[in-house]
Amino acid sequence: MVLNLQRRGLGRLADIKTHLDCSHYWYTSTDLGYTGEEVVRWNRYTALLYRNGIRLNSNADKLIWDHSPDGCPSAKSLYNQQISVLYSPTVFWWSKRLWKWRLPPKIKCFWWLAIQKHILTWDNLLRRGFSGSGYCVMCKEDTENTDHLFVHCNFTKHIWYLMGDDHSCAHDWGGLTLAENFEVWARCHPKFVHFPALVSWTIWRVRNNIIFYSHRPSVGTIIYWISRLCGYYPALETKIKKYVLTHNIPVSTILNIGTFDGAAQGGFCGGGGTLTFSDSKSYHFKVGLGEGTNTKAELLSLWALLWTAKHLQCEEIQIYGDSMAIIDLINGRTDLRNMALEHWYHRTLSLKNSFTNISLVHHYRDFNVTADKLSKEALTLEEGSLLLKEISISDTLWVPYRIYYM
Ligand SMILES: [Zn+2]
Repeated sequence: MVLNLQRRGLGRLADIKTHLDCSHYWYTSTDLGYTGEEVVRWNRYTALLYRNGIRLNSNADKLIWDHSPDGCPSAKSLYNQQISVLYSPTVFWWSKRLWKWRLPPKIKCFWWLAIQKHILTWDNLLRRGFSGSGYCVMCKEDTENTDHLFVHCNFTKHIWYLMGDDHSCAHDWGGLTLAENFEVWARCHPKFVHFPALVSWTIWRVRNNIIFYSHRPSVGTIIYWISRLCGYYPALETKIKKYVLTHNIPVSTILNIGTFDGAAQGGFCGGGGTLTFSDSKSYHFKVGLGEGTNTKAELLSLWALLWTAKHLQCEEIQIYGDSMAIIDLINGRTDLRNMALEHWYHRTLSLKNSFTNISLVHHYRDFNVTADKLSKEALTLEEGSLLLKEISISDTLWVPYRIYYM
């Protein structure tokens, strides 16, 4: 088209404009005497000039690369232009920062795929025709996808809570997606900007350990792994090592996790909880606890959790509950005030002491959703009736037990 114009003596873009009522218009195909196919090409050409807001001056025309400030094309500006077209603004935001981090390339590549939801979590595997359970092996409470695994999973939240608790980097995960949440994190914690990548990489390793080797590392081991990775970040490593020491977190490879919760409504109590073992087996239980208060419900649910753990031949366990009062009581930090519960207090204490390795830790209600739901379901159960169910791919039944109750 440009050659065609030059043959007509129109060498510059400024030559093919016309003035009408003080406005600029491009010559029409009729002005230039075009016919047939040339009309179509001319209209396409002027539409392109119009859309790109070409500003005319009296200088000779020259080609300018619009995607860099100096108008010169470069590999960097081409890459940025392509990325901004291909990816969402949040992913684009990460692409500008991620590759500058001083981290092993495998972690950077993993993180790049994770924020685009391209890693092989169950949702992606099912889409590719694989068959399987589809649910998250960390919590067994929800289907597994990138956002769940690294942000919303109760197990992951607990790791974040432990990490944040002592490092002035506690964080409220309010956003929906991984990329959104961690963009907010990066803005709030500019010194620890790549910390989410280290935590997510570790969570991914733990998840793969459970799936491929049926081995669930303890919470202490996971924190230790993260602190090892923080060798790339010496200041943080020191803080995390101090945290592991001061909180006496056991760094072992075998640890079973239990949660419990009690509910009281209309004068009746129920209890419920979960048990997840190192070999990746997982159980839910619920128990009818008769008449009583919320304190009784919490104490007896803990007792029922310990009873169930023993029944399943468990000797080492880390227990989480959202009742600070009961955890402080059983850990010996406070004294029993409600003497009506004295009998149950002593029974719970002696059962606790029969484990070879046990710890009771408080966590927030948000992390205790399943136990809370089970305890409410237990309100309708008969006093002393305990139902236990193994959580697995195939649908299993609740197995009833009559527990020695009084
Ligand atoms: Zn989960």
